[in-house]
Amino acid sequence: MFKRILIANRGEIAVRVFRACRELEIEPVVVYSQADREALHVQLAEQAYCIGPARSADSYLNVNAILTVAQAAGCDAIHPGYGFLSENADFADACEAAGITFIGPSGDAIRKAGSKSAARDLMRAAGVPVTPGSDGPVASVEEALTAAESVGYPVLLKASAGGGGRGIRRCDRPEELSAAFAEAKAEAQACFGNDEMYLEKLVLRPRHIEFQVLADRYGNVIHLGDRDCSVQRRNQKLIEEAPARCLTPELRERMGAAAVKAAKAVGYENAGTVEFLLDPDREHFYFMEMNTRIQVEHGVTELVTGVDLVRQQLRIASGLALRLRQEDVTLQGHAIECRINAEDPVQGFRPCPGRVDFLHFPGGPGVRVDSCLYSGCELSPYYDSMAAKILAYAPTRMETIRRMRRCLEEFTLEGFPTNAELSYQILYHPEFILGECTTAFLDEHLSELLEFSRKLSESGVDA
Ligand code: ADP
Ligand code: ADP
Ligand code: MG
Repeated sequence: MFKRILIANRGEIAVRVFRACRELEIEPVVVYSQADREALHVQLAEQAYCIGPARSADSYLNVNAILTVAQAAGCDAIHPGYGFLSENADFADACEAAGITFIGPSGDAIRKAGSKSAARDLMRAAGVPVTPGSDGPVASVEEALTAAESVGYPVLLKASAGGGGRGIRRCDRPEELSAAFAEAKAEAQACFGNDEMYLEKLVLRPRHIEFQVLADRYGNVIHLGDRDCSVQRRNQKLIEEAPARCLTPELRERMGAAAVKAAKAVGYENAGTVEFLLDPDREHFYFMEMNTRIQVEHGVTELVTGVDLVRQQLRIASGLALRLRQEDVTLQGHAIECRINAEDPVQGFRPCPGRVDFLHFPGGPGVRVDSCLYSGCELSPYYDSMAAKILAYAPTRMETIRRMRRCLEEFTLEGFPTNAELSYQILYHPEFILGECTTAFLDEHLSELLEFSRKLSESGVDA
């Protein structure tokens, strides 16, 4: 096992990895930007190094600075968290070249899964069902028109390098393609420095179902069940749960087997997630993408499987074989996660970071909070607005929903608006309670869900 690990990230995931290191008696070394001097991960760590100015490009994406710190501090390995350098194949290669273990898959596997368009071709060849769409990328509006014609409208234009729901545009008619193509390309270039596009048929009212996989370097690949992440706003996840209520044991087994096949197809090692769209017929499912990193919502899987995924990441990267076999994995109880973002749903979800004047997190039985917030801290405008994850766990889904409601009642944050009230309203919505949400749910019901928040904000009553 490693002796010292550099955590090349910030926010709640840096804290999460820090905790795993401490529990395994590994020395965590953290890095931070000038904007993050007071950040929680820096306060917790004994060894913390500033790697540059606030802008991510100058700090958390600064490969040279990060590798220099790792070498100077004598780290054996680097954990990239999610976002930032976590899915950067060149960074994974650079770590290996510097003699430092990258805690994740090989650069080669990241490349294979990382181009979402190329990954589709690879999966199709491996016998994993993919959404109907273009063969490879579409280089021009003409190519996009031809591909759209052959699969039928509506379609989605998607960025090959995409992530976090960005670089995606819907087109219902051929006339819309040209403008959407330009828009999606520009967004992809700005977000990912790569504007390659591909095209998929829009699956109407699907569920987003993903499978957690673990793979070691000895060819052992297992899955740890599924998560339903259908509650999304504009393709970004808001509430996730495990296991997915809509899967029969038979379908779970089929999809799990497909996820394992997908991981094998790219020569995967470490923890990863295979995302699928599930058709409303609950029969057909399509590979969407593979995320080659720890995922934001990994905690719900940890709660229902009892497996510490970050610990598994460290074990696998250090060369240990998986001790778990597929038959050892059982899903028990139900877990739900609410992402708490510093944003104002009533004002079009405008990000509104600021100072936390007062903070109280829920606790008690079956509750887990992963966060980088503390009373008095300043949430920086430079980074992601997600600042906390509240997780509830109970034997049944309904008990978990009730537990999550009371968690959000206890949760108090003064200083800036959050989406907590919106999540609370979702927990009372019949469609959510019945487990019938598709990815269209939130966008369709947003205005009714926000009614209470809007009235509250108009009345001037302090929430
Ligand atoms: P998850 O499925 O784990 O929730 P998200 O897609 O929401 O993943 O992304 C998690 C984090 O990683 C977010 O901060 C998001 O902005 C960032 N991210 C995801 N993909 C990329 C990418 N290709 N490039 C840069 N950042 C990304
Ligand atoms: P990202 O890399 O940004 O996470 P994904 O390919 O995972 O992009 O898609 C993000 C979300 O967009 C999905 O969770 C789903 O809700 C929606 N989506 C993507 N592709 C399709 C499709 N072909 N049909 C319907 N919805 C889709
Ligand atoms: Mg995705």
